Order: sequence, then structure tokens, then C-alpha cells
Amino acid sequence: MEAAEKYEVVIGLEVHAQLATNSKLFCGDSTAFGAEPNTHISPVTLGHPGTLPVTNRKAVEYAIRMGLACNCEIEKDNYFARKNYFYPDLPKGYQISQHTTPICKGGKVRIKTADGEREVQLNRIHLEEDAGKSIHDIDDAYTCIDLNRAGTPLIEIVTEPDLYSAEEAWQYVTEIRKLVRWIGVCDGNMEEGSLRCDANVSIRLKGEKSLGTKVEVKNLNSIRNVKKAIEFEIDRMIRLVESGGKVQQQTRSFDAATDTTFAIRDKEEANDYRYFPDPDLAPFHLTDEFINTIAAALPALPNELVNRYQNAFQLTEYDARQLAEEKAASDYFQSVTAYSDQYKAIANWMLGPIRQFLNEAGMGFDSFGLQPSVLAELIKLVESGKVNFSIASSKLLPALIRENGSPLALAEDMNLLQVSDAGELASWVSEALAAMPDKVTEYKKGKKGLIGLFVGEVKKRSKGKADPKIVTQLLEEKLNN
Ligand code: ADP
Ligand code: MG
Repeated sequence: MEAAEKYEVVIGLEVHAQLATNSKLFCGDSTAFGAEPNTHISPVTLGHPGTLPVTNRKAVEYAIRMGLACNCEIEKDNYFARKNYFYPDLPKGYQISQHTTPICKGGKVRIKTADGEREVQLNRIHLEEDAGKSIHDIDDAYTCIDLNRAGTPLIEIVTEPDLYSAEEAWQYVTEIRKLVRWIGVCDGNMEEGSLRCDANVSIRLKGEKSLGTKVEVKNLNSIRNVKKAIEFEIDRMIRLVESGGKVQQQTRSFDAATDTTFAIRDKEEANDYRYFPDPDLAPFHLTDEFINTIAAALPALPNELVNRYQNAFQLTEYDARQLAEEKAASDYFQSVTAYSDQYKAIANWMLGPIRQFLNEAGMGFDSFGLQPSVLAELIKLVESGKVNFSIASSKLLPALIRENGSPLALAEDMNLLQVSDAGELASWVSEALAAMPDKVTEYKKGKKGLIGLFVGEVKKRSKGKADPKIVTQLLEEKLNN
């Protein structure tokens, strides 16, 4: 038996998501990314003696919103705890976090797997503040510290050890990123560090009930790196165990240049952070009313919409999934349905020519300017046969995106209306047939498939405006008599 097949891989992920609040978790400093280093730093952020933290209500709301989206149980009686350790980029000497009462408990996230969809069990989601950044690579002799990020609100989303391959971990992080963006609690930009992941990985013999010793790979800053780091660890551990070694409990780091991991510390028996309730922050109680208000404002979630789009709008599962991949696209689709019941056509337009236009322009549906009512009219115009789809998508659509006018009026102005006038069509038909006498002879001998070629020739002569249905009729009449 192949060595790898003897083992089962078990993974638990801890994802840190920066909450999209304007200000920090315990003071009014801005959380904007990319500012001049050390400009968003009040005395609270700097941990000066005598300063007092004040909890950001929006951050609490966002944490609850994520919890509700993941079906967690919301903890009503909360307090913040100090997690004590020395970190050069967190001047207070402790991180304010949650300890025994995470704001969200349990919960689940639905992911795609090789065998269909499955729910991944969450352990908790808790609130905490971020540290600043130590920058090691801009000075030869010194490490530089930027405290702008210190105190930024994070939620840490912790799974149970309930992922079983690097691919599942990839799917899970993809799903989390989609979800935080969907409900607007985090921008999900991994390259800016808004979403970071620690991967806990262990292996055990298949059939074994207890978990193997885990290794934790810290601070993975892209979905690709999450997958690569786990793949590397699985391979490393299996080789190690197969050659008679034992997995050490370790904290490791990922080197993206080589797609490998290396040990940064062997885990001490148990971390002793000397947690205690922060005496500067009173425990806070969440009322049902507060939680219910947040629940009521939660938008419909992607999985719910995939079902709704299939059932209420008769879309295929594929189209439904494509539309529910991104909130802005999904919202746009729904606003067009207020003006048109051609649901399939709306999906086709959005996933075909419109998406192509947006891709080429480097834009998304969130900045797409075509009014939903105008798209609905455009669809009606094509449906009525006045403009054919290919001209509508290649010529009319870009013009409408520029000016949002009436599709019919614009088609008239641009001379794009389909020609169904028999006289005009008849002369193109004659020209086309006259240009291809050999093909006409072949057709008459029985090669009926050539009709497509003739229709194409007429379309070309009409610059795409000839109504193909009428053209086909005219051609057949002419050729068969
Ligand atoms: P720690 O105290 O080391 O942070 P936790 O029990 O809090 O460990 O778990 C941290 C993460 O590691 C969780 O996502 C959990 O599911 C995962 N985890 C715990 N034990 C294992 C294991 N043996 N194999 C894989 N993942 C694990
Ligand atoms: Mg951990």
C-alpha cells in the first residue's frame, strides 16, 4: 500500500479577519490601510498609563453578524480578558481578547468537497485586537515598528479539527472570504492582511479515533499558501512517521519562495498567558433586542439564494451559483428581475457579455453603471426580434453603458435595427447567391447543409442586421423553385 493511503489528515483552521470598522476596537484611531507609518496612534494605542479603552459598538455588531451568518450561538454575557505577553508591536504588554466567553459559540460553514457539500463545524468566533507590524526588511541593522494596525478589531474564527485535506482547507477559506465580504464585516483582502490564517495539521492512521500531534503553521496570507503549507506538512509528517520518527508539537512558518515550512518554536507544555478580566472594561451584556436587530438586517446568504434562484427563477444550478458568488452581482440580478421576468435571459446577459465587459474594464458589478431597467428593456428589444443578440451585445450594450438611454432609440440612431423589410432582404439574398454559383449548384444537388453558409453571407452583406429567420425563408423559397 502506498504510504500516504494509510493515513488520515486532520486540519483545524484559525482565521483572523480584520473587521471593516472605521475606527479601532477600543479607541477612535482610524483603521485605514496603507497610511504613513505611526500616524494612527493615539495614547490608547500606545498604551500610555492612565488611558482608558472604550469598546467599539460596531465591532461587536460585526462579530455577532458573522456569528449569525454561521449559525453560532451568541453569548450574551461577555467580558474582555488581558492575554499577557511581550510583543514589541503591542506596547501595552498584553492583548485584549476574549477568554472563557467567546462572543459566538459553535456554528458551521458549508463547503464544497470532492463528494458534494458538507458542513464544517466551528468551535467559536471571538473578538480581539490586532498587534502592530514589525518590519524587518527596510533597514539592515534595525527592525522598524508600525503601530497603525495595533488595536484594529479582529474576529478569530476557529474551526473544530474538521477538515480532512488541503483542498477542503482551500474551499473553507474561500467560503469564509466570500461570506465576510457578502455580509460586509471584512473586505477579505488577503494581500493587505485583512484575512490571515493559521493552519493546525495532524495525521493519524486511518480508523484511529484519537487525534495525532498537531503542528501549527502561522500567518498564511493567501489561500494558495494555506493549501501549499498544508500539502507540505502532510508530506513531511508522513515521511517522518514512515521512517520511524515522531511528529513534534511545533509552531512553524511558511516560506512562499520555496513552498516549504520551517520550525519557529517547539511548543512549551502549555502557554501561560495569565489571562484575567480586563479591569478597565466592564463586562457587557447583549440584549435580545440588539441581537435581533442585527439578525433582521442580515442579507440573504449565498446558499439560500442559490436555492431561491433555482426555485423561484428556474435558473440552472450553475447559473444560480455564478450569480450568488458575489453580492454585487446577486443584488444586480435581483434588481433587474423587478423590471423583467426573462430570468434566464438576465442571467445570460450578466454572465456573458456584461461580465466580459466588466472583466475587460477591470471592474465589478459594484461599480457597474447600466441601470437595471435599461438592461430589462434591452432584453425585451432582443426578445422582440428588433435587434439581434450579437449586435445587441457587441454594439448596443457598450453604448448603453456609456449613456443609459432608451435601447430602442439608440438602436435606431446607430442604425442597428434588424431589417425584416422583404425588398431590402431580397436584394441581399440575390447578391449572396450570385456570389456563390458553385455552392448553389451543390445545394440543388442535395447538400442542404449549405443553407447556413448562405444565411451567413446575407448577414455579412447586411452588416449583421438581416433577420435570420426571414432570410432563411427567402433563401429556401428562392433555392427550391
Ligand atoms: P491551541 O491551544 O494550541 O491554540 P486549540 O485547541 O485552541 O489549540 O486549537 C486550535 C486549532 O487547532 C483549532 O482550530 C483546532 O480545531 C485545531 N486542532 C486542535 N488539535 C488538533 C489536531 N490534533 N489536529 C489538527 N487540528 C487540531
Ligand atoms: Mg492557536
